[in-house]
Amino acid sequence: MVTKGSCMCSQIAYEFSGEPATTALCHCTDCQKWSGAAYTANVVVPRKDFSVTKGTPKTYDAIGDSGKVNKHFFCGNCGSSLYTELEIMPDVACVKSGGLDGGAANHEVKVEFYTKDRLGYAKEVPGADQVTQFGQ
Ligand SMILES: [Zn+2]
Ligand SMILES: [Zn+2]
Repeated sequence: MVTKGSCMCSQIAYEFSGEPATTALCHCTDCQKWSGAAYTANVVVPRKDFSVTKGTPKTYDAIGDSGKVNKHFFCGNCGSSLYTELEIMPDVACVKSGGLDGGAANHEVKVEFYTKDRLGYAKEVPGADQVTQFGQ
């Protein structure tokens, strides 16, 4: 199975094969800033199964609570948030699932991270594990 995604202007396209390792919402304040929304929705996929197939994303390095680099990949033309690669999770890419094509954005949510930063109107997803922040 191959899942494809793209940015709003279609200059960047990417894909991954197989099933995600997990699916997650992240409520951290960096995700709020980067997405301009209450949280990011992510499909977490092995980096070996993920590839950019069109264009070259720009990157921005944020320093996470861990003190390690969280590399953010985005379209330099339209600004769409595409995926992140966290130094603390070296084997996976966190694909921002709003960019997935063909209905693949409508996935289940297995876990929610950084619930300590959850906004009041962003209600808990029934059945999803609740994690206050990473590593807890
Ligand atoms: Zn774009
Ligand atoms: Zn986050």
